[in-house]
Amino acid sequence: MTVIYFNYKNVKTFIFDLDGTVWNWNHLFPNMAETIKKLKAKNRKIFYVSDNNILSRKGLAERLTQMGIPTDTEAIVTAPYAAARYLKEKKIKSVYAIGEKGLMDELSNFNIQISEKSEIVLTSIDRGFTFWKLKTACDLIRDGAKLYSTGSAPLWRVNGDILPAELPIQKAIEVVTGETATILGKPSDYLKKIVLEEFFLFPEDTLFIGDDIKTDMPFAHKCSFRSALVTHGLTSHKKALDAQGDEKPDAIINDIKELANLI
Ligand SMILES: [Mg+2]
Repeated sequence: MTVIYFNYKNVKTFIFDLDGTVWNWNHLFPNMAETIKKLKAKNRKIFYVSDNNILSRKGLAERLTQMGIPTDTEAIVTAPYAAARYLKEKKIKSVYAIGEKGLMDELSNFNIQISEKSEIVLTSIDRGFTFWKLKTACDLIRDGAKLYSTGSAPLWRVNGDILPAELPIQKAIEVVTGETATILGKPSDYLKKIVLEEFFLFPEDTLFIGDDIKTDMPFAHKCSFRSALVTHGLTSHKKALDAQGDEKPDAIINDIKELANLI
């Protein structure tokens, strides 16, 4: 069942979150490729906004393409990409980054060096996170470095397994140092700025589809997009119905294939 609070036919642009919405990393969710293909055939624009730092935008576009959703790099904005642009704008030349290949690649694309002597600590999901990375980050912050994070999600679901996401690593540094991180991923103002700059769209004609009521829905509302929550990811149908304020989706989608039929 899909709860509809607005007319889907007016939607010209669809922005999808990736993890928990389009795929569970290893597999696309059922009917996803077919639905996106149908939306494109009906001249709808498709974009993706993700806090994923496992791969760069280019890597994510290649992965989507290999999995059956042909995608250009320019159709994707990620929090690591936004973070790299932010640091470049601030004329930052080096950063102590805790994260994965996608984050390192985006920083490298903007000629930002990775250094253990930086005035910026940037955290993300890092499956190789260690006590010593935590110590290095905390030492830098004690010496005056500023703390940034590419996201604010507590957990990340992969193939039925639940993994810690950005927040636990960021919190570990905050607990030790007493500092508070600035978020550059969802639902930050800076990510909104990058998304509105990168994608040619009108917010009133745009639907943002995500699986997280804590990050995706507030981000959609901040951008003045319509919002829809899929129930095959982090959030159950009941939790979505009970959501309040900024976390409340305009629509709940239980089966993604309904989307193309509503257009
Ligand atoms: Mg998600």
